[in-house]
Amino acid sequence: MDRDHERIHRDERGLRSVGMTELQAIYAELGLAKEDLDILSTPRRSLTVSFPVKLTSGKTQMFQGFRVQYNDARGPAKGGIRFHSEMDEPHARELAFLMALKCAVVNIPFGGSKGGVAVDPSRLSVAELELITRGYIRAIADYIGPFKDIPAPDVYTDERTMAWILDEYERITRQHVPAIVTGKPPELGGIPARRYSTALGGIHVLERALKERGMSPQGTRVVIQGFGNVGENMAIQLHQRGYRIVAVSDVRGGLADPEGLDIVALTRYHQDTKSLQGFPGGREITNAELLTIDCDVLVPAALSNQLDESNARDVKAGIILELANAPTTAQADEIFFERGVMVIPDILANAGGVVVSYFEWSQNLSNDPWPEAKVLQKLKDLMTTAFHDVLVLCKGSSCRLRKAAYQLGVKRILDAERLRGNL
Ligand code: NAD
Repeated sequence: MDRDHERIHRDERGLRSVGMTELQAIYAELGLAKEDLDILSTPRRSLTVSFPVKLTSGKTQMFQGFRVQYNDARGPAKGGIRFHSEMDEPHARELAFLMALKCAVVNIPFGGSKGGVAVDPSRLSVAELELITRGYIRAIADYIGPFKDIPAPDVYTDERTMAWILDEYERITRQHVPAIVTGKPPELGGIPARRYSTALGGIHVLERALKERGMSPQGTRVVIQGFGNVGENMAIQLHQRGYRIVAVSDVRGGLADPEGLDIVALTRYHQDTKSLQGFPGGREITNAELLTIDCDVLVPAALSNQLDESNARDVKAGIILELANAPTTAQADEIFFERGVMVIPDILANAGGVVVSYFEWSQNLSNDPWPEAKVLQKLKDLMTTAFHDVLVLCKGSSCRLRKAAYQLGVKRILDAERLRGNL
């Protein structure tokens, strides 16, 4: 490995990026040229912006925002906006790379991007969050657009944030541009199924994986880390299909019950209190304990780098469905492979969100809303086809779904680059 690639291989916290590690591995196996690797390991554009916001205290504070447009050979860049105190440019870059691969794996005409603001939303009022969102959009407005780069929700942003983005962008451009952002409220051109599409897309691939392992959904024991848009909807959808949810958690900790948590009562409690703590059912556990509880399927649906060298050997699940982006470090990934744990990688497992975002964008451009049944059927078709396309590349005892998904995504991006004459 040459020095440049060693540098991009590790982030500023010294963690090996699973994305770049995988890219390096398939570089040799696929016989890629140095030019191919260069094009895939370099983002096309990376913005760091600073903008002032007058908080409700009357004091002005500077905030830092990021937007990385990793690759747009297959279509406009597409990726979420995250509000988190640890958001920074290297993390946005890693997540933007995953978005580019993800859109290629499910074969939708988008490139990849990611962005956000370094901020702890739990310390701010709704009015302040709105001001920060609007300030961030003003700072990046020249670089986004329905045919350039289309934002969407991610950690600690939601439909309401997307509505502010839409409004701010339309104020700047002085025209209606619903396709500028996806994950909007349905009243503003969003698709209701977008709310649970990441979870549902994950279930479509999980059910194919269970079949491969001769298992059925009924009674399959699932643990879910993260109880936000993705994790809570996953719990609801799985429960409705007969799975047994034996533990869930949010940032403050979790709950476990080997007999299965009462998900209907728990989601009602969570919607009323915005918390899992104090729910009368299940034993209180820490997030660390949650990851190693006895179960069949572990679903990380919170932040990156949750499964690492320190806990990978203690994970009991036989299948890991990565609904979070980059929840597994490169070292943990190796341990799971050695132990025969099937890891369904983020760029396949959580693509249901961007697939329905693509439907939303298409509908906004054509002004022709689809019936819900068509949205759900097309989601299933695209996810099932993507799983099949990955599986075709993944045969024999050395099968690793992550490697096969990367091979597929990389090939599709490089094909587009070649046809454009860039390679
Ligand atoms: P969210 O903000 O709605 O929810 C995040 C959840 O994670 C919350 O329950 C929070 O309490 C919990 N959490 C935060 N820090 C934690 C920690 N240290 N330990 C345990 N739990 C913690 O975010 P989301 O939209 O549900 O996104 C979750 C993950 O899924 C992210 O990795 C995101 O990139 C990925 N993802 C989201 C979508 C989408 O459509 N929203 C699509 C694809 C992938």
